[in-house]
Amino acid sequence: KKITIAIDGFSSTGKSTVARRLARELGYVYVDTGAMYRAVTLYMMRKVFVSEGNFDKEAIVRHLPFISLHFEFDEELGYGHMYLNDENVEEEIRYMEVSQNVSKVSAIPEVRKMLVEQQQEMGKNKGVVMDGRDIGTVVFPDAELKIFMTASTEKRAQRRYDELKGRGDEVDFQEVLQNVKDRDYMDSTREDSPLRKADDAIEFDNSSMDLEEQFKKVLKLVKD
Ligand code: C5P
Repeated sequence: KKITIAIDGFSSTGKSTVARRLARELGYVYVDTGAMYRAVTLYMMRKVFVSEGNFDKEAIVRHLPFISLHFEFDEELGYGHMYLNDENVEEEIRYMEVSQNVSKVSAIPEVRKMLVEQQQEMGKNKGVVMDGRDIGTVVFPDAELKIFMTASTEKRAQRRYDELKGRGDEVDFQEVLQNVKDRDYMDSTREDSPLRKADDAIEFDNSSMDLEEQFKKVLKLVKD
């Protein structure tokens, strides 16, 4: 029987790595909800409604109907790429500039409402692994399995830094660390659906566990 698996947690806790592998192993659909918030943010940045010193909430809300999002499975990479109005933005949405603006855009209730509805639609037939911040609390409060991932701030910043560096981006560790801290703060103090562990979620601290171990543990939980 197919179930819904919700994986929540702070940024760069390794959620997506575990979620993707799990989806592949089970033949489930993987949905990266962070990519959706990032794609909306990118759209608004291109329109210059969000930039350094400018945040035009009204304009953002007004332009939401012009955004269409979908994932397209990439055989080579083994997971879905994010498409914004039929353009593959998978790479661009990971840029530092997007990371710096995404929590502000995500805090707008109209943005959350739109994306939560789309996520519920994507997961309505079960057999889905969804990762994000509010999946177990808001999007699928009835998910059969909920995982909440944590890891130390430094560990997460290091992971993010290595990722960006590995792609050839010019990044500064302190800047990455600051961004992780800023997003943690904004994501957990948001009024609408603050990041928090659902009461029935199982907590995983991966500072001390490697990915292989985590994956095996989660898989065992699915099978039980
Ligand atoms: O998961 P990722 O770090 O890519 O998410 C980027 C940002 O999108 C988060 O910092 C958060 O502000 C927002 N987000 C959210 N709700 C989700 C997933 C992501 O608000 N379910």
